[in-house]
Amino acid sequence: MHQYRSARTSRRLYFQADNNKGGFMHVSYKPQLSATSYRDLTDQIQFQSQEGKIWFGEQRMLLMHLSAMAAFRREVVNSMGIERAKGFFMRLGYQSGIKDAELARKLRPDASDMEIFLAGPQLHSVKGMVKVVPIEIDLDQETGEFSGRLEWVDSFEVEICQTELGPMDEPACWSLLGYACAFTSAFMGREIIFREISCRGCGDEKCIIEGRPAEEWDDAEIFAEYFKEDPIMEEVYNLQSQLSSLRSSLHKQQGQYYGIGQSPSYNKVCKMIDKAAQGKVSVLLLGETGVGKEVIARSVHLRSERSESPFVPVNCAAIPPDLIEAELFGVEKGAYTGANQSREGRFERANGGTIFLDEVVELTARAQATLLRVLQEGELERVGDNRTRKVDVRVIAATNESLEQAVEEGRFRADLFYRLNVFPVRIPPLRERLEDLPLLVEHFLEKFHSEYDKRTLGLSDKALELCLNYHWPGNIRELENVIERGVILTDNNGTISQESLFAAMPAAMESGQVDHVDLSGNVTTGSADTNLEHWSDVILEDGISLEQVEVILMKKALDQAGQNVSKAARILGLTRPALAYRLKKSGLLPDS
Ligand code: ZN
Repeated sequence: MHQYRSARTSRRLYFQADNNKGGFMHVSYKPQLSATSYRDLTDQIQFQSQEGKIWFGEQRMLLMHLSAMAAFRREVVNSMGIERAKGFFMRLGYQSGIKDAELARKLRPDASDMEIFLAGPQLHSVKGMVKVVPIEIDLDQETGEFSGRLEWVDSFEVEICQTELGPMDEPACWSLLGYACAFTSAFMGREIIFREISCRGCGDEKCIIEGRPAEEWDDAEIFAEYFKEDPIMEEVYNLQSQLSSLRSSLHKQQGQYYGIGQSPSYNKVCKMIDKAAQGKVSVLLLGETGVGKEVIARSVHLRSERSESPFVPVNCAAIPPDLIEAELFGVEKGAYTGANQSREGRFERANGGTIFLDEVVELTARAQATLLRVLQEGELERVGDNRTRKVDVRVIAATNESLEQAVEEGRFRADLFYRLNVFPVRIPPLRERLEDLPLLVEHFLEKFHSEYDKRTLGLSDKALELCLNYHWPGNIRELENVIERGVILTDNNGTISQESLFAAMPAAMESGQVDHVDLSGNVTTGSADTNLEHWSDVILEDGISLEQVEVILMKKALDQAGQNVSKAARILGLTRPALAYRLKKSGLLPDS
């Protein structure tokens, strides 16, 4: 057993020889590691200045500025945080400690174990890192026993704290500690852990370290973590993948923006959408104009397995009939005058994803035939091409007129209708879910506040009441326009009045309600001219045809009249035969 006791515990340094050497050796106390004992170490340093090299034995060394190391350490702490930086510098010291343990054995082949061990602290001093003063060391290589207590004087890491980083909350001599652990563990052939029990870097009077075998420390396993490489990249990649999954779920949530509402009729739609999204079937969205069919279609797409692939919306009514085939299915160069180059159609662009065909009833007969083939065979040919292309596209179609009726009138293929009608979802008009209106108002206020960079106090109670009694023929799209107008016309921090919402104040369109709505006397059933102007604007804006207007009015009148044609005729100011003729013409009444 080798023991070293400094003045604090004993006046003597005892060298108890191990069994091989036998006997006791008494060595008088030396106040510090003697100058001569460094000679074998300093002799190893060799400056090969002209070659640009410094050697320590066979190891190439660097002479670098402490201030550069200090700046580097500050940067590492700032970019990785204290805990990571600590591990980083402890491992830096650890690497040197292992090398030096090997060197110590080589340089002192005939020395005692204690002398070989002391080469570690000495090497630390020789390299200018710290002056090491052993206080008490017991070691026995045979049994593996080790305990040590040493003082570090003028640690370079304390100096870094004083000049660059400022006082730390805990011991700061990280790389020195890593070195002590590595050197001693390599020397003893077992894991020895040192801890800095006080440190000047965190305001203590002295830097004192204590070392014992790992098993004797309660938290050895946690401490050992510092010596494990800790690739920050893995964590960065992890965070990146978390971020992208958060983004995608946010994306999906945004796709549910129509998912604002608590009304039973709306909840029913949500449940249908969720079911539809899971599968691959075509979805047919039914509902009036402005109810948010495209948003629903996007929600279906974003909640399906195809969400990473494109979503391509197409309004079939907005494309001229003679171009629709080329637009949807692509075209080969020279297929017709003006086809100057080949290009892919919307279906090819949507490959792997979803295409949304709004107003699908507008498709030409030829386009309907091609669409049917895409649905049945998953393949198409570009216009003017004879090459067959495979496409994998989910079709969501929408219509605000009855497809059944279009089939009856021969405007729409029955086989295509059955293909599209696998999963029909009816989206209720806004007037059937008015309890959702306040939430939708909130949503659009938020949207336009940020779009116009202003903040209003929201709708006045009167304005909200007006909204709740209004018929909303243009549905959510009309509400959106109305709120946008209100935000534009209202000053910052002002309340949105009913006048700023509606240019001309609407009477509730359904006759039964008008009398119950008191619109501050401005609007009565008598102001028919302004009403007419308002709804005719809406009709024109939404591109509803005269025929459609007629059909809608007749249907409505029939509904109100309980399907009694005479009563309906009276409501419309027509004779019974005149209405009957029109009903037959538009297919609402079968020929009799
Ligand atoms: Zn310290």
